Amino acid sequence: MIISVASGKGGTGKTLVATSLALSLKDGHKVMVQDCDVEEPNDHIILKPVITDREPVFNLVPRVDEEKCTYCGTCARVCAFNAIAVINEHVLVFPQMCHGCGACSYLCPEKVITEIPKEIGVVERGEADGISFVQGVLTIGEAMAPPVIRKVKEYSNNDYTIIRDVSPGTSCPVVESIKGSDFCLLVTEPTPFGLNDLILAVETVKELGIPCGIVINRAGVGDSKVADYCVKEGIPLLLNIPLSTDIASLYSRGIPLVEGMPQWRDSFIKLEKQIKEIVSERNSNPQR
Ligand code: SF4
Ligand code: SF4
Repeated sequence: MIISVASGKGGTGKTLVATSLALSLKDGHKVMVQDCDVEEPNDHIILKPVITDREPVFNLVPRVDEEKCTYCGTCARVCAFNAIAVINEHVLVFPQMCHGCGACSYLCPEKVITEIPKEIGVVERGEADGISFVQGVLTIGEAMAPPVIRKVKEYSNNDYTIIRDVSPGTSCPVVESIKGSDFCLLVTEPTPFGLNDLILAVETVKELGIPCGIVINRAGVGDSKVADYCVKEGIPLLLNIPLSTDIASLYSRGIPLVEGMPQWRDSFIKLEKQIKEIVSERNSNPQR
């Protein structure tokens, strides 16, 4: 089973939830953590894995042989991402904007475009106290997160319960990360900002046809509007984590919640059981 842990905005406690879930399940399951928050992977700070393998990730970007180019402009017209332009008998390529789709080289009438691999990040693998660990790291200055995320996802294995940490927001990297999950846990805080971003995240997950449930972090800090929204939309509110200086202090020192406060283990084990029930009910009745 693949459980994605996402949030409509940053700083809601996604890493806290993903790592606590993984550490709580590891004694009864084969657990893999996939950190797909490739612009700012944080799970390693809590899990402290021993990294044993690094694999570079490449994007294919165009290189033009201008001696043979006729400056017809086809490449610029077919590029949906404005990553190539033809100006005053010059072809300009903007590698950071290139999605590596290959359309320009495929459609160039003179066949003068070659695709060159450009390193944009790395996937690191290792182990953290019995947990199989995979994280993607996008090179600073690079913008193309999806190829790195796809490479992390290639390590998915049905033998494992996979906890996938997703970047915050609702953009392309989030969709790429969540795609293929069995369930998406949305972590939020009970504030107007939290609710606003949660609604966007719920819409994205629903669009992908993936069942979701909510974890409220820092419960008690705001109002009841997030809980009311869950009731109104029929979205299960699966766990409340209270606003607590003890929890914040553990997190700031890189100590896993379920190690510093082992009483939380049962809550996360119960959380996984609830997710399993929702997924199995959904699979037996896909119309819901
Ligand atoms: S499509 Fe090919 S020939 Fe036309 S401008 Fe682009 S690189 Fe040059
Ligand atoms: S490979 Fe695709 S995204 Fe990149 S420049 Fe060519 S058409 Fe644009």
